[in-house]
Amino acid sequence: MSARRKLVVGNWKMHGSHPANAELLSGIMAARPFAADVAVCVPFPYLPATALSLIDSDIRWGAQDCSAHKQGAYTGEVSSTMLAELGCRFAIVGHSERRAMHGESDQLVADKALAALGQGVTPIVCVGETLAQREAGETAGVVKRQLSAVIHTLAHCVSEMVVAYEPVWAIGTGLSATPEQAQEVHQLLRAQLQAATPRAEQMKLLYGGSVKPDNAAALFAKPDIDGALVGGAALKAVDFVAICRAAG
Ligand code: PEP
Repeated sequence: MSARRKLVVGNWKMHGSHPANAELLSGIMAARPFAADVAVCVPFPYLPATALSLIDSDIRWGAQDCSAHKQGAYTGEVSSTMLAELGCRFAIVGHSERRAMHGESDQLVADKALAALGQGVTPIVCVGETLAQREAGETAGVVKRQLSAVIHTLAHCVSEMVVAYEPVWAIGTGLSATPEQAQEVHQLLRAQLQAATPRAEQMKLLYGGSVKPDNAAALFAKPDIDGALVGGAALKAVDFVAICRAAG
């Protein structure tokens, strides 16, 4: 196992309600302390209440997207300045659901990552191939292209981001990548980062895609897997806590 401290981030997607969130957060809080860093990325409207619940803890919170723009006539968008005001430590950018459903390009994702960093919000930049791309032998090319746009845009700040490898075919399907498949891609991503920054060894590369209590430890045992971005299993305190413990 590497010396990098693990990071486990829950991606709640468009789930939750005030009572359900309060129960979930208190379940997570009650299980502290964790040996890993832990965060939850919640829907925008729940950020203030989440911040209030977590403010005195070491659990961080964040958003699931962030505008590339500073301010202006961008109806429905939320800026990184607003996220910073709400105490967000993280913003997920380039999740495959946004790339696919909202047509987000590699460059837009990179611009969002830059906007987040500009306000001290750490972008969690998601990359990953579809099943068709994997079957066509295009995995390495796809993730390299996605990461390359961010590397060029962030330039000397590149080491400040977190990268999440999320194969699209593994998200929400119950079919996780094997630890070996995930490690293979993480190693490629680390090598690409090494060519861009002397701090690549310190950077956190998360795996995401059907991470559950029963597969987390094997994934975390791989040398370039520094934690997880967790969707479905982040909505049940007992499962999320078990994954956080597996990272410790
Ligand atoms: C995600 O949406 O980022 C994700 C990894 O989802 P799941 O864990 O449900 O596959």
